[in-house]
Amino acid sequence: MIAKYLPFFVLLFLWSCNQMAQTPPRSSEHNAPPKHPRNVILMIGDGMGLTQISAGMYRNGNKLHLESFPVIGLHKAYSGDNLITDSAAGATAFASGVKTFNGALGVNMDTVPVRTILEEAETRGLATGLMSTASIVHATPAAFIAHVPYREAYEAIALEFMKTDIDFFLGGGLKYFARRQTDQRNLYVELQKKGYYTSDYLRESLSEIKLNTSKNFAYFTAEEDPPPAIKGRNYLLLASHLAIDFLHARGRDKGFFLMIEGAQIDWGGHDNNSDYIVSEMIDFDRAIGEMLKFAREDGETLIIVTGDHETGGYAINPGSTMDTLIAGFTTDGHTASLIPVFAYGPGAELFAGFYENTAIYSKMKQALGF
Ligand code: MG
Ligand code: ZN
Repeated sequence: MIAKYLPFFVLLFLWSCNQMAQTPPRSSEHNAPPKHPRNVILMIGDGMGLTQISAGMYRNGNKLHLESFPVIGLHKAYSGDNLITDSAAGATAFASGVKTFNGALGVNMDTVPVRTILEEAETRGLATGLMSTASIVHATPAAFIAHVPYREAYEAIALEFMKTDIDFFLGGGLKYFARRQTDQRNLYVELQKKGYYTSDYLRESLSEIKLNTSKNFAYFTAEEDPPPAIKGRNYLLLASHLAIDFLHARGRDKGFFLMIEGAQIDWGGHDNNSDYIVSEMIDFDRAIGEMLKFAREDGETLIIVTGDHETGGYAINPGSTMDTLIAGFTTDGHTASLIPVFAYGPGAELFAGFYENTAIYSKMKQALGF
């Protein structure tokens, strides 16, 4: 009797093994990725071209977190009035999708204000954040919040922060808020009245901060620009963590948009100082690694890493080894070479290919479903 049905039992056994193998694992890591990301983290390495990345990688033992990004693209960085962009026009292209003239923030070629992705995110109820290793009113972060035709109008840019409800910002530039020359206002105090928790490097260190997510958050890391990493600045990793802990809690319903800038890769290029570039590149990559870790666990976060332009015409010359780079520079300004784009998470595939810098904006909007 049993022998008669044995082939049937064998088949049943094989079929159920197959069913078990096909049952999808529970971990969100392996589920089909959601169509739209809830959160977008845009990471801008100012002045970060391919040589800056190469140098950072070699001097970091031939490895970077950037290597684990599955999608890579290239963007054309030129501005509205110059083949060589500056950081203001470059960041305006990312923030608002328009090519404008060098020096302009959040306005088009006719100096008409253009809406930024951060403002769009705010309107749609996402939590928003800006963070930099420069002053927070410096060109790159400013392009996401300010609408002024002149990037060095730092006190005017600080005023633009008052017109928004940005949830989180962190960077240098305390004096443009608290010790202003052009008017008698104290924006530090005004921010508190507006419902912000405000603090700064003189008051408490970042590691002492107890996050209170019921209030908006502003922290100033320096009076003007923070020092280079080689002179002791070390907050980017900790601050990035603070930002996503904060925004993740605040954006529980709708998600968040966060821009993180590694600002001083550019300044190493302007100084034609290879060690400065390398240390800033490695500092930025460490924060990239931390954001990747968050995105992998979260499963609903799109990370885009790119530069606004290359700085220095930086080259790694013959005779170099991985430990000892013989650097060359063609200029102390910016250059016009193509800039790589790295993407991870839901919507990352949109960033493959070859496109204008303004497409970073439209691709982020498309990914978010805006
Ligand atoms: Mg910058
Ligand atoms: Zn520059």
